[in-house]
Amino acid sequence: MLERPWLSSYPEEIPVSLQYDVEPLPSYLKKTATEFPNKVSLHFMGKDVTFQELYHHALRFANYLKELGIEKGDRVAIMLPNSPQAVIGYYGILLAGGIVVQTNPLYTERELEYQMSDSGAKVILCLDLLYPRVTAVKDSTPLEHIIVTGIKDFLPFPKNLIYPFIQKKQHNIVVKVEHKGTNHLLPYILKNSPADELAVDVNPQEDLALLQYTGGTTGFPKGVMLTHSNLVSNTIMIRHWLFKCRRGEEIMLGALPFFHVYGMTACLILGVMEAYKIIIMPRFQVEDILKAIQKHRPTLFPGAPTMYIALLNNPKLKEYDLSSIDACLSGSAPLPVEVQDQFEKVTGGKLVEGYGLTETSPVTHSNLIWGKRVSGSIGVPWPDTDAKVVSLETGEEVEGKEIGELIIRGPQVMKGYWNRPEETAVSLRDGWFYTGDMAYMDEEGYFYIVDRKKDMIIAGGFNIYPREVEEVLYEFEKVQEVVVVGIPDEYRGETVKAYVVLKEGVTCTEEEVDQFARKYLAAYKVPRLYEFRKELPKTMIGKILRRALQEEEKAKKANE
Ligand code: AMP
Repeated sequence: MLERPWLSSYPEEIPVSLQYDVEPLPSYLKKTATEFPNKVSLHFMGKDVTFQELYHHALRFANYLKELGIEKGDRVAIMLPNSPQAVIGYYGILLAGGIVVQTNPLYTERELEYQMSDSGAKVILCLDLLYPRVTAVKDSTPLEHIIVTGIKDFLPFPKNLIYPFIQKKQHNIVVKVEHKGTNHLLPYILKNSPADELAVDVNPQEDLALLQYTGGTTGFPKGVMLTHSNLVSNTIMIRHWLFKCRRGEEIMLGALPFFHVYGMTACLILGVMEAYKIIIMPRFQVEDILKAIQKHRPTLFPGAPTMYIALLNNPKLKEYDLSSIDACLSGSAPLPVEVQDQFEKVTGGKLVEGYGLTETSPVTHSNLIWGKRVSGSIGVPWPDTDAKVVSLETGEEVEGKEIGELIIRGPQVMKGYWNRPEETAVSLRDGWFYTGDMAYMDEEGYFYIVDRKKDMIIAGGFNIYPREVEEVLYEFEKVQEVVVVGIPDEYRGETVKAYVVLKEGVTCTEEEVDQFARKYLAAYKVPRLYEFRKELPKTMIGKILRRALQEEEKAKKANE
């Protein structure tokens, strides 16, 4: 039987097992809209959208999708930055029985073409500026309809809005975008479609709500199939973890991208389920974020480590009042202990590290926000979530604090990968999901991520975990950001290279960093190569793209 030592650290407010009465996702929007019709759900660029307005807009969009022929199980893509339209689109698709396919607005034509073909999306809701990219792939993918919206066209509608360029051809809508602001289809739909409730028979345990393509930092993107129940269960878990937060009373900073699974669950689902007001940030501009915190006084700020790092390193930080922040859950990448301490000092709130993956909707572990937490650990498994560490060689659970692969079982674990039965069979075995992350657990059931299985560097026969080296370098006062990668080496197989971003205005030599590293790391772990950069390549959520740096190295070697 699996031992669960972590359960003893749960405070009494968090039940070890939750009662799930899971309904289809959009029914939570209806409930909140009924209970809090006039409460502000979304705040965006000086304008508010109430829960009732959000529900009605989503219904209108759903009716329009029905009119286009969208049926239960059809895929509909959204390619938008954070905006009310992204939320309206999301719930509209679900209300019509469709499956949401989130598309990163930074995707190139090729990436978009791959995703549209792989998912089989028939309709896409996209930003006007992205229309040329989307239209370029329309003929080579199953896409039938493109619905366009501009960042500014949402309530209240601009006066004199006319639609001279919308042509309907047997439901095949062509939108010309030369005249921005006058020809966007979404406002037209929201004004003219009926807001009737649609009868769609959704089984939350079986039916998909989302096809979420994984980050792409770890390989070719695959569509992760998440059911209504996966997403709702994970949100019910979050709700219990945030036991001091009050329904209808919190304000959340929506800075994480909504098209990433973490931003989506935190802002789009938890925000709606718990009637929180979301301050929507269309992009992560540090000063905009600082201003928004001071002005709107959010209590919750889910984020990724790079976001907290960027705020802490802004020279104007001290000019802003960030004291409204009560709780921040950091996920997606390791949170350096230094950053956690400093951020808590600045805000007076809690910043705790959590862990998850797209395949787990996303959260599986986190530290207690109000309770015991261990710096450097991802915390303990959430209610109803089982976790263990297994040996790569034997597949058996390891002894004590040995390192092995972290595997997870729980209601948030995906149904599988879209159209990829072989890959599903590799990742999902006997009800357990194999994360590909190397980890260990301590006596109290706190887990520690050592690294991705694939990121481990083997230099001269020694195993080196980049995260350990990065943690040390982060402690060096001149370093703002750092990433460590393994690069091919003739003699050692691989060698350790550190890419370093220095704090603004400081100067530093390689020797200084090297001396610091040598004080705290065994010689074989100390980077042999350093490179100073102004910034590091990152995904939209702020995950550093090790792979891109490794590719650069390979290309350099090939040209030598
Ligand atoms: P994604 O599916 O794109 O969200 O990526 C999931 C991966 O992010 C995990 O497999 C981990 O490698 C990484 N990750 C997420 N949270 C953490 C964390 N707190 N510490 C270390 N790695 C993390």
